[in-house]
Amino acid sequence: MASPLNLDQQTMFMVNALLLVVFAVAFAFAGLGHKDRRYWAYLVVSNLVFAVAFVIFSHQIDGTPEALLLPNCLLVIGLGLRWQAIRTFFGHRSSSAWFLALSLVIALALLLSDVLGKGVVFGLINAVIAAQIVAIMVSLATEREPLPSRWGLVFAYGAIAASSALRVVQGLLLDRGMDSLLPADIFLDLNLIAAAVHISASGAFSLSLAYERSAAELRETALRDPLTGLYNRWSIEALPEIVKHRAAAQHTALVLIDIDHFKRVNDNYGHSAGDAAIKHCANSIRRTFRGDSLIARIGGEEFVVLLPGRNVDHAYKLAEKLRSTLETRTLTFPGKSITLTVSIGISHGKADAASLPGLLEKADVCLYRAKAAGRNRIEIDDRTLGPNPASAAPRREPASPPPAPGGSSRS
Ligand code: GH3
Ligand code: MG
Ligand code: MG
Repeated sequence: MASPLNLDQQTMFMVNALLLVVFAVAFAFAGLGHKDRRYWAYLVVSNLVFAVAFVIFSHQIDGTPEALLLPNCLLVIGLGLRWQAIRTFFGHRSSSAWFLALSLVIALALLLSDVLGKGVVFGLINAVIAAQIVAIMVSLATEREPLPSRWGLVFAYGAIAASSALRVVQGLLLDRGMDSLLPADIFLDLNLIAAAVHISASGAFSLSLAYERSAAELRETALRDPLTGLYNRWSIEALPEIVKHRAAAQHTALVLIDIDHFKRVNDNYGHSAGDAAIKHCANSIRRTFRGDSLIARIGGEEFVVLLPGRNVDHAYKLAEKLRSTLETRTLTFPGKSITLTVSIGISHGKADAASLPGLLEKADVCLYRAKAAGRNRIEIDDRTLGPNPASAAPRREPASPPPAPGGSSRS
């Protein structure tokens, strides 16, 4: 079937091969010093394998089955390597055995094309290619990591899958008696155009996929406290944004927690014991305020918990659970036994960025009150709640380290 598009197919093959090499170089640069090295290595090798296949194809239009054996097998192997790249990127294990087996099936079919009929073999080759592409698309579409470029890749593979599916129809239904396994017709023109779209789009989106992950990881690192893994003080302004993502809550309870007499832990047991105490406290906070809470370490031994959509009663219940757990659960540090107590201030208000400083300030005033009233207790912002349940909180000094004389003011 003559093509009305009038493309120079040999040139198109060569242009596509060149595009593949350009992206292979870009992938190689992207992979330098990058931790996802296997992802980039698979992409580089797959592009080079495709490029070699395209150069051979460019000289074999209307060629013999034997001459088309190697480039067709290379296409199947190249797609297998793309599959490996995607699986590796998302942390899954996969084996190369299946696409090597598929390439053997294709080689066998090509060698038997006189018996099977060229149309059937042509349809079979394209069916295998389309199936590999669909497998890659399904793998991409079912990943959970929020990387929008995944959908760009699904589109890129969709373009070439549609063109391959058209060639299956051509081989198995329209042209069973075809006399060449690479006929220079409109279907080849469409396939070459789809290949150019695929190579450019999959190249660009493979790069941006990795960029999106790096940006997300950097953002996460910048927001996290390395000692406890909680959000850090710089992330505090981002917390209302995170709240918005997690819950459509209008209001939030804010719990401000400060370890009592922490300086003495450092002074009496050393700085590394102090670090262990901070981690111990952070873990207790994490265990107590599970679910939709957002927890940040905003000072040396000061933590804030946002409880979107929760009222003061709920926040108080959890804060009291934390307070009593900490005073009863001793931290054992090589040869030492340390008991921590905390003072807690609670406020409640709008869950937006503009209201956060006011909420923190109110909780800080409550925390100061708790410290001044003897520590190891909870105070609630009484402008948001009438009767103050904090008055019921026990007032006890930490068992260890012993309080220093006169050391009762909050610093
Ligand atoms: P108060 O009951 O009034 O809160 O007394 P405090 O001793 O806990 O008060 P303060 O806030 O003055 O003490 C905080 C201490 O925490 C001071 C600082 O040396 C220590 N610190 C801050 N960051 C770290 C850290 O990352 N590791 C350790 N080990 N100590 C830290
Ligand atoms: Mg303190
Ligand atoms: Mg403090």
